[in-house]
Amino acid sequence: MNLSRRLFRLSCSLSRFNLISNTALERKHHYPPPCLHSILHCSICHQFCTRPFLLSSRSFSRPPCSMDLKTVLDVLEQLAPLSLAESWDNVGLLVEPSKQHPIKTILLTNDLTVDVMDEAEAMTCDLIVSYHPPLFRPFKRLVQKDWKQQLAIRAIESGIAVFSPHTSWDSVKGGLNDWLIEGVGNGQVSVLSQALCSAHQKHRLEFTVRNEEGLDNILKDMRKTEKSETFQYSILRTEEEAQQVILNCPSSELTPTVQAILGNTTARQSLNIIQVQQPPLLGCGQGRHVVLDEPISIAVALQRMKKHLGLPYLRLALGNQKTLDSAVKSVAVCAGSGASVLQGVKADLYITGEMSHHEVLDAVSKGTSVILSEHSNSERGFLSVFKERLSAHLPESVTIIISQKDKDPLQVM
Ligand SMILES: [Zn+2]
Repeated sequence: MNLSRRLFRLSCSLSRFNLISNTALERKHHYPPPCLHSILHCSICHQFCTRPFLLSSRSFSRPPCSMDLKTVLDVLEQLAPLSLAESWDNVGLLVEPSKQHPIKTILLTNDLTVDVMDEAEAMTCDLIVSYHPPLFRPFKRLVQKDWKQQLAIRAIESGIAVFSPHTSWDSVKGGLNDWLIEGVGNGQVSVLSQALCSAHQKHRLEFTVRNEEGLDNILKDMRKTEKSETFQYSILRTEEEAQQVILNCPSSELTPTVQAILGNTTARQSLNIIQVQQPPLLGCGQGRHVVLDEPISIAVALQRMKKHLGLPYLRLALGNQKTLDSAVKSVAVCAGSGASVLQGVKADLYITGEMSHHEVLDAVSKGTSVILSEHSNSERGFLSVFKERLSAHLPESVTIIISQKDKDPLQVM
């Protein structure tokens, strides 16, 4: 028994059980045990769910000198973890130069077009952060016939790294969708499509062992599994001096873990396997809904969003029986093409970049008005917000520039 286990044994006393330890198999995690309930229900995803998102709350010290690509990528990850991106997305580092050099110039753009690549090359850019991933579908060759492959070739030849955050920026607390909904007014904001904790622990195994030696043998066998460092377990001593063990393990390691437990007769007879529901990551996910503190008219909502997005025109579909003076109390937004996230959401007003004719008809038939800005116009304004956040975490030797050439391809003439 190590020191931490002794301390836990001394410090915890519960009416039915005595808590002995709560630790990962390799790396030790010490959880202050305020009550049995919190151990059972909170420690399961502790290391993941309490992970800070720097967009919303934390700051880190400004580094003193220039940065290499890996360090800049670390900063981008901390500002919006890529694990928040949708499973279908293609986020992260998409082009990595073979020669490492300090990152001096970063170009931020919504879309990486030919014009933006011209701009990047002209300013001898080292890293392009393109919100939309310029490489999405897999390809088997790199040739000049396809414009996206041309861009990839130019980035490689110019030694420019390309990174795309896409739906991780949409999802993160304080990210793109929170910025978008701020434009309509203050109120109680909630997430439309809740992001879940990406914890590896997906099964909880409960079993009893007669003594510490039995447990040590099981743990020894478990250490042979590939991801044993991600396991967390709690031990509760019953009144009969036996030990009840609660262990969380990733689904991929379930079979070898169960095999290790089955080697012990008492553990085998008492084994209970529970699938753990992934808990929500509060404030993160796709789309946002707001109940406004002060209701406004549709006309006012329109004016506010024009100002927020920096646009002279927006497209408006009035909900059935609604006029420009009708009251707006609740608003749902989703940056980009938001119909799939907004579908079925009850709100007086939807705000997104684009929706199809039939999707708009569905919304207005339910009395919901719709404001459309064109796809990327609902996203691009966040680049200047992100520029400020990124610059606060990079040395002054790094220049961050927002593309002048990046624009929505559609215009209202
Ligand atoms: Zn988009």
